[in-house]
Amino acid sequence: DLGEMFGFGDIFGGAGGASGRGRDAQAEVTITFAEMIGGVKKTVTLPLQAKCEKCGGTGGAPGAKEETCRTCGGRGRVNKQIKTMFGAIARSGTCPDCAGRGKTFSQKCPDCGGAGRLKRKVSVEVDIPPGIGDGQTIVVSGKGEAGVGGAPAGDLLLTVRVSPAEGFERRGDNILTRRHISFAQAALGDKIEVKTPEGGTVKMKVPAGTQPGEIFRVRGRGVPRLRGFGRGDLLVEILVDVPTKLSRSQKELIKQLRDLSG
Ligand SMILES: [Zn+2]
Ligand SMILES: [Zn+2]
Repeated sequence: DLGEMFGFGDIFGGAGGASGRGRDAQAEVTITFAEMIGGVKKTVTLPLQAKCEKCGGTGGAPGAKEETCRTCGGRGRVNKQIKTMFGAIARSGTCPDCAGRGKTFSQKCPDCGGAGRLKRKVSVEVDIPPGIGDGQTIVVSGKGEAGVGGAPAGDLLLTVRVSPAEGFERRGDNILTRRHISFAQAALGDKIEVKTPEGGTVKMKVPAGTQPGEIFRVRGRGVPRLRGFGRGDLLVEILVDVPTKLSRSQKELIKQLRDLSG
């Protein structure tokens, strides 16, 4: 098909063209890190060619009669001559007057002028699944631009941005966080609480002799797996604070410790 080869496919519309199925729409939404973990419903409002409410997308005025389309004689398709460098080529395409339905109305809808759709603001509610990655796109089928004359709508391609959470870094299905502990806690061991990105805390054991930079794993408190079950882990990197201001008695005790350790 030479016409197709030279990119004439859009002259008669077809997927995403001037007639027939509606174009895909694009939008972007930003969610918080906590919303990414829990999953969230978001309402996206965007201006697009939406189904005309007056005629319900048919393009006919209320009470208008349906007639056989005069342009295509009811076939829904028309032949057109296209001039190319090789001469004229006959191409069959969707009828522009009836959008392929084969029928037109005796009176066109006054709101949309017969197109069956209008540019207006549309709100779409989208379920964003837990664990979605920053920059990933969700395809919401049938929520793009309305088709002409009641033809199927396109899809909404929604790109999701995940805003970073202070103190938390996503590492695949795991989340890395850092927790300061005292020199005494590191040496003697302790039970500590660690903040989670959802806003809560989780209890964790720090063993005696914990080294600075050691990473502990709190299982199942990471990012939910988008494909599959369960969650990744919360990785807790331990930072050991060396005291900067010491009282006289504290100094004495540390000196004793030094002398005992040799
Ligand atoms: Zn209308
Ligand atoms: Zn027609």
